[in-house]
Amino acid sequence: MLEAPSLPQPNTASTGAHAAPPFPDADLLHVVDLLPAHEQRRYHALRDYLQSAIRPASIDYWNDEAFPRELLPGLADAGLARLHTDGTSALFKGLVYTEVARADVSLSALVGIHNELILGMIGSLGSPEQKRRWIPPLESFDALGAFALTEPEHGSDIAGGLATTARRDGDGWILNGAKRWIGSGTIADFALVWARDEEDHEVKGFIVEADRVGFSARKIPHKIGLRIMQNADITLEEVRVPEGNRLPGATRFAHTNELLRDSRAWVGWQAAGIQLAAFDVARAYALERLQFGRELASFQLVQQQLAEILGNAHASLALMLEIARLQQEGRLEMAQAAMAKATTTRLARASVALGRSLLGGNGISSDFEMAKLFGDAEVLYTYEGSYEINSLIVGRAVTGKSAFV
Ligand SMILES: Cc1cc2nc3c(=O)[nH]c(=O)nc-3n(C[C@H](O)[C@H](O)[C@H](O)COP(=O)(O)OP(=O)(O)OC[C@H]3O[C@@H](n4cnc5c(N)ncnc54)[C@H](O)[C@@H]3O)c2cc1C
Repeated sequence: MLEAPSLPQPNTASTGAHAAPPFPDADLLHVVDLLPAHEQRRYHALRDYLQSAIRPASIDYWNDEAFPRELLPGLADAGLARLHTDGTSALFKGLVYTEVARADVSLSALVGIHNELILGMIGSLGSPEQKRRWIPPLESFDALGAFALTEPEHGSDIAGGLATTARRDGDGWILNGAKRWIGSGTIADFALVWARDEEDHEVKGFIVEADRVGFSARKIPHKIGLRIMQNADITLEEVRVPEGNRLPGATRFAHTNELLRDSRAWVGWQAAGIQLAAFDVARAYALERLQFGRELASFQLVQQQLAEILGNAHASLALMLEIARLQQEGRLEMAQAAMAKATTTRLARASVALGRSLLGGNGISSDFEMAKLFGDAEVLYTYEGSYEINSLIVGRAVTGKSAFV
């Protein structure tokens, strides 16, 4: 039997003591049993580490909008810097993404973007030299990359509207433009910048090292979610990169489709994780907090809320198990990933709202973790394609009519 996750509980929250509740890990469906024995062992070790070393520490970092660089070696030792390249199953990778999100959503964004979009893009679309140069340090978190697609004037319409330009100049390229919301933008060693070739008008990818002349990144402060992730506004002013920095596998934006599909699916695992986190916090609080002389957990309406959060979490997990099956079979399509992303993030938003209310006034202070989850869920709902855009991708797939392009 696993230990109950050790949850950060500000002293003022606790009014009673309780024994470990049944299903301490909240795995009512025994999802972890689907993994082979060696992956189950690795999963349990990882979860223990994330719950003890990452989750309690993350609240202060989140409140301070600070990036915990000192946690990176531990995350790398746990294998989280090379989930994309270590050959594990889609289900294992997904359940690990869930547990990282359960511990902290910002760090799960870093781990997910790093694996799905940075290692993924360089591994699939990069040259042999780019792979030799970047994959080893990326696999140990000795290097970090940022995925720079969104722009100040183009978010949902980025594929068609992307305005950053790439001009061929002798043996290199000159990049001009602006990017917005770029995760790890102020701390990464390089950004994967997507720019439109002025000559053929196709969108191409470039590795732009952060110390290139003309490259600048400014942190976006005051976010209500993902506060540990250092999102940035990036400016590119006549930035010169050699031809060797262009990803040769991406001569058109469509070449990124499979990777963007997988990263969309990854958000579904994050959404499952944030709901398990909300359940952990809500249950622990309900078992400790006394009102009317009784634990909140003994009131029927509170039990209903706990059941709803856990039901939403497991509905999300069940959907993601099917996504993992399709991924493993090489059959995942964009509409399926979009349906999973939209549905699980909609449920996540509902779950954290229930959890927020269940903590009463203490649900308003991020010191009790639930408000942190409440803010983080908003980001899941919007990034990797907003809820609406993902719904429209599904709508297009099932009607044959596009309502957005
Ligand atoms: C914290 C955070 C981290 C991020 N990290 C990264 C990153 O690392 N790299 C990166 O490249 N990007 C990143 N993004 C950007 C993210 O992917 C975009 O914010 C998202 O795609 C939405 O784009 P937008 O913000 O420009 O909103 P808009 O496109 O301006 O949309 C605004 C609203 O209009 C709706 N809307 C737009 N068009 C339609 C339509 N046709 N029909 C119906 N509704 C529509 C949208 O659903 C949304 O509700 C991040 C964003 C956030 C907030």
